[in-house]
Amino acid sequence: GLSERLQQVMNRIRGKGKVTEADVKEMMREVRLALLEADVNFKVVKDFIRQVSERAVGQEVMKSLTPGQQVIKIVKEELTALMGGEQSQIAVAKKPPTVVMMVGLQGAGKTTTTGKLANLLRKRHNRKPLLVAADVYRPAAIKQLETLGKQLDMPVFSLGEHANPVDIAKQALERAKEEHYDYVLIDTAGRLHIDETLMDELKQMKEAVKPDEIFLVVDAMTGQDAVNVAQSFHEQLGITGVILTKLDGDTRGGAALSIRAVTGAPIKFAGMGEKLDALEPFHPERMASRILGMGDVLTLIEKAQAAVDEEKAKELEQKMRTATFTLDDFLEQLGQVRKLGPLDELIKMLPGANKIKGLANIQVDEKQIARVEAIIRSMTKEEKTHPEIINASRKKRIAKGSGTTVQEVNRLLKQFDEMKKMMKMMTNMPKGKKKGFRFP
Ligand code: GDP
Ligand code: MG
Repeated sequence: GLSERLQQVMNRIRGKGKVTEADVKEMMREVRLALLEADVNFKVVKDFIRQVSERAVGQEVMKSLTPGQQVIKIVKEELTALMGGEQSQIAVAKKPPTVVMMVGLQGAGKTTTTGKLANLLRKRHNRKPLLVAADVYRPAAIKQLETLGKQLDMPVFSLGEHANPVDIAKQALERAKEEHYDYVLIDTAGRLHIDETLMDELKQMKEAVKPDEIFLVVDAMTGQDAVNVAQSFHEQLGITGVILTKLDGDTRGGAALSIRAVTGAPIKFAGMGEKLDALEPFHPERMASRILGMGDVLTLIEKAQAAVDEEKAKELEQKMRTATFTLDDFLEQLGQVRKLGPLDELIKMLPGANKIKGLANIQVDEKQIARVEAIIRSMTKEEKTHPEIINASRKKRIAKGSGTTVQEVNRLLKQFDEMKKMMKMMTNMPKGKKKGFRFP
């Protein structure tokens, strides 16, 4: 896939002291192939490569002390720009309700996303949305939305499956005005392929309710096809934004990269699962990181440089090497890491974090960390340097002193032990095998 391929190239150049024009050319060849393989539109690829090459052979890299890093940074920045740069917000009508039409092919995720969007609008924006069932063709489509409405405890407007979709939309809008809804979210019908009847109906609906947003819902798994679909929907309806669904799956990323470039319409939200809370504002920068498979490593590096005391870091590294790392040092390290910010956010930024299933949804309990700190603080100097002397009665004392339990003390000791073992392994590794991972 795109990330593996790019990562290989990046790893090759990461350690380079100097980057030549030939290096850049070779890298760009790989990047180009990787993007094409990921099903990114070829015109988009061509422009992208030109843009990155120009910057990469320029002053910015050649004069830099860390050219490899610099190229990665450029690729990431350009990927981000390709996906729209900044995060793009949902429209708010001057006079409520804000009308949103959800369009797209059958199975793209329109109905599910309508429910998710309603949930997000209520939860994060404190808005009151009305769901509108205007897909009268797909069997049970109305029922599907009504079920979602029930789960959310939100009203669903419907006139049954014999009504005309344009009438449904019009009447729903009237109702929303009367009952002071903030948003009207219209779930429309899709087809397996784009056809004229469908488009005509959507055009009439657009004419009738004058939507503030027409969201094209696109299945991210469909790659290049998704781009063609987006293009024709855009030509006929003038979409105002894209919602990419199924980004939780094993997508190649091509759709995300091309859609913005081809339509000019921003990707506003991303579907990350089937559940009703699995919709997130789309962040171009985070997506670029994900495509590169490097997490938000650059942000992390920047943050770390700002927050971590260089002297202390060197000292700790030295201790690791000589295996004299104690629980006191561990405490010190926890403190340094916490200065960086909320831990669950940090974890998501780690390189490779995207490969570990479930990690994206991890919630680090800050209270848990505080308990670990309390446990270490309740130890004597000797215990912190030689934890092997901590017997049952000492454990009881430590647990009591820190307001925790013996199990928690045990868990911490075990973790520390494993950590030391891992450090030994890392420091014993032959040179060159240590893949650019620096401590802390
Ligand atoms: P519609 O035909 O466009 O209305 O599509 P639906 O909303 O009925 O969704 C089709 C299928 O895709 C359903 O099984 C959804 O649960 C699933 N789906 C929608 N969005 C996502 C998503 O973000 N992630 C995953 N994994 N599945 C999704
Ligand atoms: Mg549907």
